[in-house]
Amino acid sequence: MTDRCAFKLPRDRFDDLLQAIRQRNYLLLAPVERDGSVMWGEIEGSRELAWGKADSQAPGSYRLEAGHPERCFEVTHGPQSLKSLTFSPRQKLVHVRCGDDGLTFDSEAAESKPTAVIGVRACDLAALKMQERIFIEGEYADPYFKARREKLLLVAVNCTRAQPTCFCASMGTGPAAESGFDLVLTELEEGFLVAAGSRTGEEIIASLNLDAAGEPEQEEARQAVEACAASQTRSINTEQLPQAMYAAHDHPHWDDIASRCLSCANCTMVCPTCFCHAVEEVPTLSRDESERIRVWDSCFTPEHGYIHGKNMRPATRERYRMWLTHKLAAWIDQFGSSGCVGCGRCITWCPVGIDLTAEVAALLEKDA
Ligand code: SF4
Ligand code: SF4
Repeated sequence: MTDRCAFKLPRDRFDDLLQAIRQRNYLLLAPVERDGSVMWGEIEGSRELAWGKADSQAPGSYRLEAGHPERCFEVTHGPQSLKSLTFSPRQKLVHVRCGDDGLTFDSEAAESKPTAVIGVRACDLAALKMQERIFIEGEYADPYFKARREKLLLVAVNCTRAQPTCFCASMGTGPAAESGFDLVLTELEEGFLVAAGSRTGEEIIASLNLDAAGEPEQEEARQAVEACAASQTRSINTEQLPQAMYAAHDHPHWDDIASRCLSCANCTMVCPTCFCHAVEEVPTLSRDESERIRVWDSCFTPEHGYIHGKNMRPATRERYRMWLTHKLAAWIDQFGSSGCVGCGRCITWCPVGIDLTAEVAALLEKDA
């Protein structure tokens, strides 16, 4: 965990921080309880956060339970990452009209409101960095992603509690938020530590007149984050992993996975790095107008593998193999880093509890 110039933010001044952000005309988004889990929701103040709640995640299982009554970030990460805030699940691209003078095409403007996201986790910052590489750092920048990303202010939270499904420590992406945020919080017994990661973050902290944190609070924060990393029971050994994944192409274990996998695509929907999409034409009933819309897609759908009269991945075996090999091997060739940040969402939200860490371990064993 990088040492930064940290300040003490008493619990009863948490709202001052939120109001300092609002005064800069940011909408506040934070994890709020909805439908039995936490989702990004607009808040006005800290009372709308999930105080006194903790989540319990396991393969194919998610529960909200009672937690520490004075903590609001014991709830770790829900099914949503930052992905839906930058890469919209449903993005209108073009509006087409058919009139007396022929067809007109109007591109959808790339616009976004300034939005502060409170409670971003280290794995999600790592995933955002990957998506930035894909969507805006290449030769062709996606204007919709760019407009949304530029308007985000990110308030990260260092994780002091890991789920049994988390393995960010082995992927080198967490549980401490190291970069890519404006502010970072650590929730402690007596309130929070807050530190800045950008000029805007520094200005917000300066406006609050906070006391500098002393060594005892910094040490408490360090220990809490280190204990969180040490508590992670799942891991992936990334050494030589791409070569091992390519070598496992014909491993019989793919058939075993396919016998359990439903090809439902849940894992790709919750994955913060997956970026497959499709483009649909949606006509009105009168058929004189239509919209071209980009929607999230998944390599688990039969349609996604259909190219020029042939389905490249007709069976679940090929689809799961494509997904996992891309994540852990081909992604590194393409983008220079692993496509998995170890958030464990695909394990929690898989309806049959398929666990990629266990599948990788089985695939790395010699052929049965
Ligand atoms: S593959 Fe699974 S664990 Fe890895 S980033 Fe995606 S959802 Fe998280
Ligand atoms: S691995 Fe699980 S979540 Fe992913 S497609 Fe298969 S059944 Fe669905």
